[in-house]
Amino acid sequence: MPNTHRTLTPEQIIRPEILALSAYHVPPATDMIKLDAMENPYPLPESLRNTVAQLAARAPINRYPDASATELKATLRQALGIEDEMEILLGNGSDEIIQIIAMAAARPDAVLLSVEPAFVMFRMIATFTQMRYVGVPLHQDFSLDLPAMLEAIAKHEPAVIFLAYPNNPTGNLFDAAAIVSIIQAAPGIVVIDEAYHAFADVSFMHRLSKYPNLLVMRTLSKLGLAGLRLGLLIGRSEWLHEFEKVRLPYNVGIMTQVIADEVLQQADVLLEQAQTIKTERAKMLAYLETIDGMTVFPSDANFILFRINAASQIFQALKQRRILIKKLDGTHPLLENCLRVTVGTPEENVQFCTTLNTIITEITS
Ligand SMILES: *Cc1c(COP(=O)(O)O)cnc(C)c1O
Repeated sequence: MPNTHRTLTPEQIIRPEILALSAYHVPPATDMIKLDAMENPYPLPESLRNTVAQLAARAPINRYPDASATELKATLRQALGIEDEMEILLGNGSDEIIQIIAMAAARPDAVLLSVEPAFVMFRMIATFTQMRYVGVPLHQDFSLDLPAMLEAIAKHEPAVIFLAYPNNPTGNLFDAAAIVSIIQAAPGIVVIDEAYHAFADVSFMHRLSKYPNLLVMRTLSKLGLAGLRLGLLIGRSEWLHEFEKVRLPYNVGIMTQVIADEVLQQADVLLEQAQTIKTERAKMLAYLETIDGMTVFPSDANFILFRINAASQIFQALKQRRILIKKLDGTHPLLENCLRVTVGTPEENVQFCTTLNTIITEITS
């Protein structure tokens, strides 16, 4: 008998909005000075790494992990100073938490609102979950356009607003009073994404008890544990109780639970590294500002955004010399000729700064 089984093509099965996407691109970085992904460049101290090795050796990986991660949550509560009245939800990175929130809120026609330019996952996850995405442009200096935000909130009545504080890819903190106005005007929830909190010293955490529609998100990724994948959402039980239903039971593995728990007991190590990164950030900012034709944007994060003529050419030339940063030119009109560099070790930063200077001299001579 002839085989008459005919299957549909991906174009016939996959949703058109997914077909239209390009996958989140992570460029290869072997043998590169890697300054593109806001990672902490420092390893853990030797003694702590040995402790981690022993914990890993003892971990019962034949068993499922603790689905409620009770011990880890207690340690996080202590280390981050989370109030007793607030609940914690854990994610496999905060990316997953964005997805959990969106999945739970994705009623037909529900809106997810953020600013532009912002963290690209806000828009992508809105698409994955069939939420309608609204991006309100920032001002030229990347500050919040509060009247435009309030207008968009009134018009679209967003179910969820995401604001990164400090913002990625721009590095700045939005005006706290403007954010409060947004929280007060929003009919839905406002998630303040504090991925870069360790480099900023300010937070909305202490306002959680004041605003019933406020949630705060953190991650260990930028703090030095990007490979573990651990993010957390902090807020009232009335919200987190619902999001918990959408979370897959074993989303945080046992290795992440035991290692994060141990490292957070000694959080000073990470905080000292963050302090070093802040000192290096100041040095890099000062240096970059001396380069002719350069616009350097202020940063409260572990990266620096700058604008320079022929940015794409400079990006390529850096790459040829094995220095990988992030090209933002072409991703949004406000980011024309913009590049973003993560603050690395002192040696990496010097290498970046001097190579950049050489390239600019070559191009302009
Ligand atoms: C890096 C980043 C995240 C994602 O962090 P993970 O916890 O590693 O998933 C979330 N929000 C912003 C603004 C970021 O820059």
